[in-house]
Amino acid sequence: MNAPLHSDKLLPADDKTNGWSAILPRRNPRAPAQKSASFDWLVVGAGYAGVSAARRLAMLNPSQSIALLEAQQAGEGAQGRNAGFAIDLPHNNDHNPDNTEKGFRHIRLSRYGIDSLDELVRAHAIDCQWSRSGRYDCAVSPEISRRLLGATAAELDSLGEPYEIVRGEALHERIGTRYYDSAVYTPGTRLVNPAALSRGLADTLPSNVHLFENSPVLELEAEPTVAATLPGGVRISARKAVLTNNAFISRFGCFKRQLLPFVLFASLSRPLTLEERKQLGGTLDWGITPAHGIAGATLRYTQDFRILFRYGFQFAPTLRCSDSLRERMKRSHEVLFKARFPMLDQVKLEHFWAGYLSLSQNGAPGWGQLSKDVYAAVNCNGVGIAKQTAAGALIAELACDTGHPLISDMMALGSPDMLPRRPFLDVGVRTYLAAQKWAGRSEK
Ligand SMILES: Cc1cc2nc3c(=O)[nH]c(=O)nc-3n(C[C@H](O)[C@H](O)[C@H](O)COP(=O)(O)OP(=O)(O)OC[C@H]3O[C@@H](n4cnc5c(N)ncnc54)[C@H](O)[C@@H]3O)c2cc1C
Repeated sequence: MNAPLHSDKLLPADDKTNGWSAILPRRNPRAPAQKSASFDWLVVGAGYAGVSAARRLAMLNPSQSIALLEAQQAGEGAQGRNAGFAIDLPHNNDHNPDNTEKGFRHIRLSRYGIDSLDELVRAHAIDCQWSRSGRYDCAVSPEISRRLLGATAAELDSLGEPYEIVRGEALHERIGTRYYDSAVYTPGTRLVNPAALSRGLADTLPSNVHLFENSPVLELEAEPTVAATLPGGVRISARKAVLTNNAFISRFGCFKRQLLPFVLFASLSRPLTLEERKQLGGTLDWGITPAHGIAGATLRYTQDFRILFRYGFQFAPTLRCSDSLRERMKRSHEVLFKARFPMLDQVKLEHFWAGYLSLSQNGAPGWGQLSKDVYAAVNCNGVGIAKQTAAGALIAELACDTGHPLISDMMALGSPDMLPRRPFLDVGVRTYLAAQKWAGRSEK
């Protein structure tokens, strides 16, 4: 590990605007860590990777104690703010048509994550609208369909994965809106209210996991023993630590100049009335991802008749975003929503929020052993529901030296490439985003 950083800016500060949690009943968070204490294990961050790592450590070591420290409340970070697609196939920067072996690895890992979520949702009756609805990867024009969906279909063929091409009227009958020309439908994606899922996962941890919420780790020592310092000088020490705090891991000096933090934006409508549902038409509980990953919009029609809209992707090296950017994105959401749903002109997007995630240039995770007693499972690369669930469980397997067969798949994904220094990095990323936006300009 590099020398620790001490910048308050590298602590999460999500606001209370997340629509997915606003529509849920009130939840009482677990008490913060107020007294110094020792545990066998320390896990930092209660997102998908953190709860999965803590759960697996607890199961592998039933007589040992695990402290899970979360800076905010469970379900209020990116884990509860996302679009709610647990995706089973290579997505965004997982693609590499020349390397099917890499595609198979992503599928094995994602399905391992999804299978364990299927089982946890069932076993603990987590009420989170978990559904096996699949996903429509949609193109807005015949030209984009030929170019991008054609490539997606070819990749699915080479991976031996089933899919369906849905066009024109047939697509309209399923999703109501006529905005899209065609789609590649794949059946394996699960859809979910991510705040309800991540609360449910945190609230059903084994009894040897001690979850402390509103407990930000300010400093982390790796030697001579692992110790975390929290506000008020509280110290939590442990034999080993697992860091699962996504882009915020840079606070501890890890993966320096390897991670690219981004801010994304999402909106959720009020439930449609019976009349509005008829005007929309189509079926219920579908999810659309855009053929133009970064430039396009992600949409869902939820089981409780709301429309989820995710659009906007901005580089956020300080893990903060300005009020003016928020306002601009909020207005874009309203305009783009109307373009897709002209029949719903009375429907307001009731909730609007921002969330942060981390990517690497080469799509590799920040996963593995960082020093003698410190491990990490970070850098979700945008598809963390499935993959960070897998990465969290497998980092626990690695730390306990179980020889789990999927560890070799995680390791084969490599580690994040080194990035240019700022401000060259900023220029490079902004140029790339502008080119993506231009390529996807037909998604208006
Ligand atoms: C708008 C949006 C839409 C998205 N859509 C999707 C989607 O549809 N499907 C999908 O799979 N992914 C999606 N993602 C990405 C997904 O949310 C992430 O991949 C996932 O949350 C990563 O899980 P994680 O456990 O690695 O990290 P996180 O969920 O980010 O959890 C990390 C946790 O660490 C905590 N933390 C940070 N620093 C500290 C500290 N110092 N001390 C203690 N705790 C700390 C944070 O508060 C946070 O709760 C989306 C993200 C956004 C923002």
